[in-house]
Amino acid sequence: MSPDKMGRPTPPETPALRRTSKALRRRAVFIDRDGTIIVDKHYLKDPAQVEVVAHAPNALRRFNYALLPVIVVSNQSGIARGLLSEADYRAVRARVDDVLGERGAFIDDHYHCPHHPSVTGPCECRKPGIALYEQAIVEHQIDARSSIFIGDKLRDLLPAKAYGARGILVPSPETTPEDVEQALAEGFDLASSLSVAAAIALDLPFAPEH
Ligand SMILES: [Mg+2]
Ligand SMILES: [Zn+2]
Repeated sequence: MSPDKMGRPTPPETPALRRTSKALRRRAVFIDRDGTIIVDKHYLKDPAQVEVVAHAPNALRRFNYALLPVIVVSNQSGIARGLLSEADYRAVRARVDDVLGERGAFIDDHYHCPHHPSVTGPCECRKPGIALYEQAIVEHQIDARSSIFIGDKLRDLLPAKAYGARGILVPSPETTPEDVEQALAEGFDLASSLSVAAAIALDLPFAPEH
């Protein structure tokens, strides 16, 4: 693997990477859900409220066509807070898959952290923790170093650092100026839409689409 664009050394392999076959490893897209693929409605529990972000289907289709597994990693602290149940979460997830499917886009797998430190104590899976990424890497034989991390918060991108991978911030109305500033300071890219992020990730010319 080449060093990253900031010239930082490649980090040592994580336990998950040591459990993958070098021959089978695939580049993937790790992507946030709320505020990145669907509009962030805060502790969304009603599937009818699922609203896809404008460029999301186009961007996800591009990843699908490029045969990059699309892996959603989502913090769902509303479950710890008692604002939604695991069943609510699964219903919303199914609706997200359906709405994207109607647009010809496909998510390969979803992972979520149901915890919140103030309610359930610290956990390894809440982003920027990497436990869910480690799980996905093993389950999908992912080459994390060449994968792309995309989201609307800095915490969606910080896991990329554990793998020496690339991150792209796609700001939403929820994104703070501090997150933008810190993402740039960390050497992550900034994209104005998910389509632009896909074009950057896939090294494609950007053609506006919906
Ligand atoms: Mg988000
Ligand atoms: Zn957790």
